Amino acid sequence: MLKLDFHPSGRHFLQIPGPSPVPDRILRAISYPTIDHRGPEFGALGLKVLEGIKQIFQTRHPVIIYPASGTGAWEAALANTLSAGDKVLMFETGHFATLWDKMARNLGLQPEFLGLPGIEGWRRGVDASMIEARLRADAGHEIKAVCVVHNETSTGVTSDIAAVRNAIDHAGHPALLMVDTISSLASADYRHDEWGVDVTVSGSQKGLMLPPGISFNALSPKAIEASRNARLPRSFFGWAEILEMNKTGYWPYTPNTNLLYGLSEALDMILAEGLDNVFARHMRLGEACRRAVGAWGLEIQCADPAVYSPVLTGVMMPDGVDADAIRKNTYERFDISLGAGLGKMRGRMFRIGHLGDCNDLTLIAALAGCEMGLKISGVRINASGVAAAMDYLADQAVPALAKG
Ligand SMILES: *Cc1c(COP(=O)(O)O)cnc(C)c1O
Repeated sequence: MLKLDFHPSGRHFLQIPGPSPVPDRILRAISYPTIDHRGPEFGALGLKVLEGIKQIFQTRHPVIIYPASGTGAWEAALANTLSAGDKVLMFETGHFATLWDKMARNLGLQPEFLGLPGIEGWRRGVDASMIEARLRADAGHEIKAVCVVHNETSTGVTSDIAAVRNAIDHAGHPALLMVDTISSLASADYRHDEWGVDVTVSGSQKGLMLPPGISFNALSPKAIEASRNARLPRSFFGWAEILEMNKTGYWPYTPNTNLLYGLSEALDMILAEGLDNVFARHMRLGEACRRAVGAWGLEIQCADPAVYSPVLTGVMMPDGVDADAIRKNTYERFDISLGAGLGKMRGRMFRIGHLGDCNDLTLIAALAGCEMGLKISGVRINASGVAAAMDYLADQAVPALAKG
C-alpha cells in the first residue's frame, strides 16, 4: 500500500544523488502565492533568475530555463542544434550516458558510442584521447556534436571536460561540445565559457537544492548559430522564441513560477556562500565519505582517484551480496534513502549522495545509517567508517565556517 501519510519522527535522510534535500528556506520561498506570469512583478523575478543562473554556469551567454526535468533539457539540446541523420559522438561512462545515447537514436540521430567494454568504462571518466582519435579519423567532419556527461551519477565519476575540449581542438574538428551537468552544477566546479562548451544541460533537483521540475540549457554563440540551420523538429523546446521573450524576463508559455521563487532563493544561498566554498565543501565531504568506505573495507565504484566525484560515492558490494537488500534494510530500519545501482550495476552497488544542502553532521548520520545497514545485513566490515570520517572532518576545518 502506498503510504502518503508516512511521516515518522525526525527527518528522513534523502541521501540519494538527486533529488537532494530541499532546505526549509527554499521550501518557504516556493510557498509564496503564484502570481500573474505576464504581470510586472514576474518580469523582475524572471530577469533576476536568468541573470543569476549565469554565474552558476560560469557563463556570460544566455541560459534557457525549462519547466521540465533534466531529460527534457537533453532533448532540447539535441533538437535545437542537430538535423535528422546527423552523427554524434557519445561516451559511455555509465547509465546516464547510455540514456542520452538512446534519446539521440529516438530523435533520428546517429550516435556512435565510444567506451571501454564491460563495467570497466563504468569505473572511469571520459577518455579524451579516444575522442581525439575518432575526430581525427572524421576528415569529412560528419560528426556534428560530441556529447559527454560531466558527473556520471550512476557511478560517482566526474570527467575532465577541459580535456574533452582540448581533444576537439587538437583534432581541429568543428563539432559542437554538449555536456550533461545535471548532477554536478552548483556542487562540482563547472565552467561553461572557460571550457568552451556549446550546450550545457542541467537540472534543478541536485546541486541547486530545488525540487525536480526545472532544467537548463546554457548556450554558446556557436550553439545559437547552429540552431538557425538545425532541422530537427522542436516547438516547446525551441530556443529562438524563448530567448526573445527572456529579454524582458518573460516566457512564451506559463513558466514554473513557484520553482522560480525557489531558484531565486537558491541563487542567493549559493552565491552568498561563494561558488569556491561550495565546491570545497563538496570535495571535503566526498573525501570523508571515501575514507568511510575505505575503513569498511569495501571498494569504491570509481577506480580512478583523479575523477572521484565530490557529489556522490558509489559503494561496490562483495560478490554474492545484494546491494538492494541492504538499501531496503537501511530504509526500513533507519529511514534513509540510498541510491540504487543502475543499468549494468543493478544490485551490485549502492550510492551515497553528499550534495546540495549537506554538512558534516548530515554526512556522519548518513554514514552511520549505512554502517548499521551493512551490519544488520550481515556484511562484514573491517572498521568503523563513521569513525574514519569523523577523524577526517574534525581535523579538516571548513575554511568558511572557521573564519566566523
Ligand atoms: C538525474 C540525471 C539525469 C536525469 O534527469 P531527470 O531530471 O531525471 O530527467 C540525467 N543525467 C544525469 C547525469 C543525472 O544525474
